Amino acid sequence: MAEVRPDEISAILRRQLAGYDKAADVQEVGTVLQVGDGVARVYGLTNCMSSELIDFPNGVVGMVLNLEEDNVGVVLFGDDRLVKEGDQVKRTGRIASVPVGEALLGRVVNPLGVAIDGKGPINTPHSLPIERKAEGVIQRQPVTEPLQTGIKAIDALIPIGRGQRELIIGDRQTGKTSVAIDAIINQRYTHTAEAQAKGIKPVYCVYVAVGQKGSTVANVLGTLEKHGAMEYTTIVVANASDPAPLQFVAPYCGASMGEYFRDSGRHALIVFDDLTKQAAAYRQVSLLLRRPPGREAYPGDVFYLHSRLLERASKLNDSLGGGSLTALPVIETQAGDVSAYIPTNVISITDGQIYLEPNLFNAGVRPALNVGISVSRVGGNAQIKAMKKVAGPLKLELAMFRELEAFAKFGSDLDKATQQQLRRGARLTEILKQGLYSPLSVEKQVLFIYAATNGYLDELPVESLTRFEQEFFDFIENAHADIVSDLGMRKEITAENKSKLDAALDSFVTNFKRTV
Ligand code: ATP
Ligand code: MG
Repeated sequence: MAEVRPDEISAILRRQLAGYDKAADVQEVGTVLQVGDGVARVYGLTNCMSSELIDFPNGVVGMVLNLEEDNVGVVLFGDDRLVKEGDQVKRTGRIASVPVGEALLGRVVNPLGVAIDGKGPINTPHSLPIERKAEGVIQRQPVTEPLQTGIKAIDALIPIGRGQRELIIGDRQTGKTSVAIDAIINQRYTHTAEAQAKGIKPVYCVYVAVGQKGSTVANVLGTLEKHGAMEYTTIVVANASDPAPLQFVAPYCGASMGEYFRDSGRHALIVFDDLTKQAAAYRQVSLLLRRPPGREAYPGDVFYLHSRLLERASKLNDSLGGGSLTALPVIETQAGDVSAYIPTNVISITDGQIYLEPNLFNAGVRPALNVGISVSRVGGNAQIKAMKKVAGPLKLELAMFRELEAFAKFGSDLDKATQQQLRRGARLTEILKQGLYSPLSVEKQVLFIYAATNGYLDELPVESLTRFEQEFFDFIENAHADIVSDLGMRKEITAENKSKLDAALDSFVTNFKRTV
């Protein structure tokens, strides 16, 4: 049988219907011309809008993506086997939107905002369209407040500010999700009375899982619950087994949920895990809608797919309440190829990137962060003064170490100064290692980095530094809590604080040396 094209059918139908159009309101209902692979061609919806929801039989919902002359291309959020050619469909007049609000905290939802955690329906008076225009330049202000991830290497070297977009990029199984989850867990602190006393505002979190295995997402949920992080977090899930249209809209839905907090003067953090899979889902949908394929078979507007999403992360100006939405998109690379199409797109959209490398990961450097090529374009503006002060020398010494390290492998006759630099560098690399789900407060990070960059660790064996870190924090908490609280209130290292800290470090290091 020769294939019948939807536009030919449309033309025939229109000829037959000529004259009837005005009598009946045929524009609000349409007929399915073709259905398959999660996409339906519908005739007769001449007035429908782009991204309008369409009701199909059997409870299937679709969203209009292609507005063509003769028909509209609709992606289906449900099972396409429930829809047949010739079925009647109805316009809803509604643009795709999701429920938003406090009621979503602690919940797991699908991209349509329907609860999938078995804890009953979500009752919230608020909803927002999933596609929203990003704020313009006038509505924004510079990013200056830190968003602490609790990860030493990131907070010290690649600081993230509230309202920033920082990309987490790396091959598979390099700890990308772990970095993002740690950042979410660390926001628990911002919800405590102690933080509020210091003027730190709470951060609400949204974790958007796109195209992952159900078991992986269940693990993330378990981890967040275990660390008390679900109280202020929403998880939006479109698994690998869900229809591609759901995977493609999930990040926008999550962004709207985050924007609710931003627009009410509060702060939110959103993780898109990951946008590579979202792009693949969008490619699938686009090809089925017969949009022309371009580079790597992605449609021409795949850049816009990510730019309009990430542009929504912002820090609003004070007259709009000063709220912020920080985005941590995740991109998976193939064999470290950051110059592939989607990675370069997202790198160019974001304000910096965290590179995770498999060879570092395998060498035991975890988080497997390549501090040499990772950047944050907001930089020191988003750090407290004390951190800025200790991070400066840390950056410099690590850079010198990387340079020396390569060529020191060849020769053994090194002068004293070089040996000292290598010694220091090895220790600095070691102290930036950090276990899973153990975020550190910024005060503790400052104290530890201070000890390292001021040479207190130079005489200690590298292997003993993990134990040193633990015992040092215990010691400070028990005997010198005043240093920590003073640092927390003033946010800088004062002369008085510095002398106290030096004295504490002197006595602790002397004692510690006896035990190694
Ligand atoms: P995928 O590509 O499958 O999404 P990913 O890059 O998100 O992987 P993760 O799932 O975060 O990587 O981590 C991979 C493995 O590495 C996990 O088993 C995790 O426990 C381990 N891991 C990650 N970070 C650390 C760390 N800092 N210390 C110890 N183990 C870690
Ligand atoms: Mg992952």
